[in-house]
Amino acid sequence: MSESNSETDNSSNNERQHYCPTCKKPLRRILGKMGPFWGCSGFPDCRASLNDVDGKPSIDVDEHYRCPLCTRRLVKADEEKGDYWFCSGYSKGCKVTLTDHDGVPEAAYQCQKCNHLLVKRSGKNGVFWGCSDYPNCTASYNDDNNRPKF
Ligand SMILES: [Zn+2]
Ligand SMILES: [Zn+2]
Ligand SMILES: [Zn+2]
Repeated sequence: MSESNSETDNSSNNERQHYCPTCKKPLRRILGKMGPFWGCSGFPDCRASLNDVDGKPSIDVDEHYRCPLCTRRLVKADEEKGDYWFCSGYSKGCKVTLTDHDGVPEAAYQCQKCNHLLVKRSGKNGVFWGCSDYPNCTASYNDDNNRPKF
């Protein structure tokens, strides 16, 4: 990771565009349920998110991860409960849980048909992504480098 903390005021006033500190794609301001934040337009390839400070992204990358379904923050479960993350909207009905991979929640993708999460499965013909709402939803997607091919 290269340090580029050169977000100083040598930019003109009408420059409203902000860029991802990780991949340099434009950031977009997202009105999450826990308040506004900035997400990378490269999502889901880039999962950077930044806190919103006075309508601008903070320089520091938000160390919290967001629920792929409802954009609330993900919370790491207590260690004795296991290595996983759950959605802070759990009590509001969002039951997303994601496996922990070295302190990072596993990548998760949303079904394009019903907005449930997809789960990676392996079938006779190899790995694919199926809807977690199966059998109510029978959407499935081929695997493309560890992500569903939409
Ligand atoms: Zn990015
Ligand atoms: Zn959620
Ligand atoms: Zn589905």
